[in-house]
Amino acid sequence: MKIQNYINGEFLPPVADRWIENYNPAIGEVYGQIPDSTKEDVEKAVEAAEKAFPSWSNTTLTRRSEILSKIADLIKEKLTFLAESESKDNGKPVSLATQIDIPRAASNFQFFANAITQFSSEAHESVGLNAVNFTLRQPIGVVGCISPWNLPLYLFTWKIAPAIAAGNCVIAKPSEVTPMTAYLLAEITKDAGLPKGVLNIVHGLGTSTGQAIVEHKKIKAISFTGGTTTGAHIARVAAPMFKKLSLELGGKNPNIIFADCDYDKMLETTVRSSFANQGQICLCGSRIFVEEKIYEKFKKDFVQKVSELKVGNPLEESTNIGALVSKEHLEKVKSYIDIAENEGGKILFGGDRIAVKGSENGYYLQPTIIEVASNQCRLNQEEIFGPVVTIMPFKTDEEALQLANDVKYGLSATLWTNNLNRTLQFSKQLHVGIVWVNTWLMRDLRTPFGGQKESGIGREGGFEALRFLQNLKIYV
Ligand code: NDP
Repeated sequence: MKIQNYINGEFLPPVADRWIENYNPAIGEVYGQIPDSTKEDVEKAVEAAEKAFPSWSNTTLTRRSEILSKIADLIKEKLTFLAESESKDNGKPVSLATQIDIPRAASNFQFFANAITQFSSEAHESVGLNAVNFTLRQPIGVVGCISPWNLPLYLFTWKIAPAIAAGNCVIAKPSEVTPMTAYLLAEITKDAGLPKGVLNIVHGLGTSTGQAIVEHKKIKAISFTGGTTTGAHIARVAAPMFKKLSLELGGKNPNIIFADCDYDKMLETTVRSSFANQGQICLCGSRIFVEEKIYEKFKKDFVQKVSELKVGNPLEESTNIGALVSKEHLEKVKSYIDIAENEGGKILFGGDRIAVKGSENGYYLQPTIIEVASNQCRLNQEEIFGPVVTIMPFKTDEEALQLANDVKYGLSATLWTNNLNRTLQFSKQLHVGIVWVNTWLMRDLRTPFGGQKESGIGREGGFEALRFLQNLKIYV
């Protein structure tokens, strides 16, 4: 199957007629082709977006909201098909795509359909000066949205929905590794009545198509989710053009477990926070720190629970862990397991590739638990982004806090304790964008989302996303 670009409301092949192979990671085989788009394709998309902007930015909020709601409804109608397509393209269990990825894509549109009708400019009266200051928020123009492969439609729509709700026209690029649901979304937005040119989807490699989007002078803002190294590169390219930038980057999140927690809930959640989506979620808790008093018990129980997870064909409902997204990524993750062995880490469970019956060439890896002796090892300092977690014990609150913060990333942290004072202290002192206490991955779309340190700059979600996606002007 050949995926096409979506420009000015039309499905088009790439100008240079060059194509990239698209793999099904569950079987390790090519199942389609996607455009290898160049600057020329991006240029066409920008022209279409510029043309659509005057009318779209002037479209009433009610109409914008209706179209976004309609997109959400159509995503829900096509839930099963979209979930199967996502699973095939990414390797994730279809059950996960059905319960999380696709419903969240619909929620992203529904949320911003509502939010835009409640978002407002502000006025400040200068009392005694006979003046009123109006803070006017206006759409930026043409904006770029670039998203990664781990939660393809979920993150693609997380960027596109607020961008168009805010009155912008968009040039969007999904990861070339997982282009399928972005392609399917184009058709949905067309059916929902989104005018041509408002959303343009250009497929291709990050280093060429993505780079062309970031370099384009007429694209005034970039919303990017992806790796920290890519984010730093994008910042360097965009800075001389003074583009607005929102960067949601990598994580190496601590999961801090105290003896006074609700043990059963913690254990069950920790299995999920470690291995959901094959550990390929920027919010997974990949460094597990356990209070010494319960360390041995946790180790035994955690290994037992993880050994019960079924690694298998993502399209089977009973599968807990599917395939990693690509051969290159599988090799990268596996290389960290080799590093662990050289660094003196002890593999408590997993570590090997799995040959799934009938899909022997798929990119499957056992969920892997490694005991490490120091937080300074590469396994604890570098983002692996796969089904690999480390565990180590700690004695005191101070030590746990120091270990948690001793990393260049600052995306999220999970804390397991029933001590209120400790909860308050940790929540205040952890250098991250979000702290979950006795839970994990609970998200309310009204809240600002983003990281500290090398996990990014800016906040998306709720009104923060709309603020980022509009320009401010004051008049008095
Ligand atoms: P990458 O940084 O490799 O890619 C992200 C996107 O950027 C892809 O669409 C990619 O295209 C594109 N890209 C790559 N190079 C460039 C460039 N020079 N200019 C413009 N665009 C470019 O990340 P991954 O796809 O590997 O995703 C995994 C990373 O994403 C992890 O680090 C993870 O932590 C992070 N992430 C962060 C989240 C957050 O909210 N903070 C959420 C989810 C993931 P292509 O793939 O086609 O090369």
